[in-house]
Amino acid sequence: MDHDAELLMLCALDALDPSEESEVRSHVRVCPACREEFIQCCEVVGHLALVTRPVLPPIALRRGLLSAIAQAPGRRAAHLEASNGIKDIHWEKTKAGSFRGTA
Ligand SMILES: [Zn+2]
Repeated sequence: MDHDAELLMLCALDALDPSEESEVRSHVRVCPACREEFIQCCEVVGHLALVTRPVLPPIALRRGLLSAIAQAPGRRAAHLEASNGIKDIHWEKTKAGSFRGTA
């Protein structure tokens, strides 16, 4: 993988499929510039949760989502496995109440 800011942001948003995510995380481990950018992307994603108004999903959507998750146990396991490469990033809460990642 080359330096790709869009892929880094999509990875921070957890919007990549497991193989793409694994490729990005492997690159982040060996590329300090992308690691720093990925940390910044994760900070931005962390702020998104604070600036959006929480909305309760319709009950049918919730049931459908939970059903889909229950039928795809391998997806969760693959995601957790792919995430292990970034466990050296530590999260701390800032004075403003958001979270900041440091390598
Ligand atoms: Zn890079």
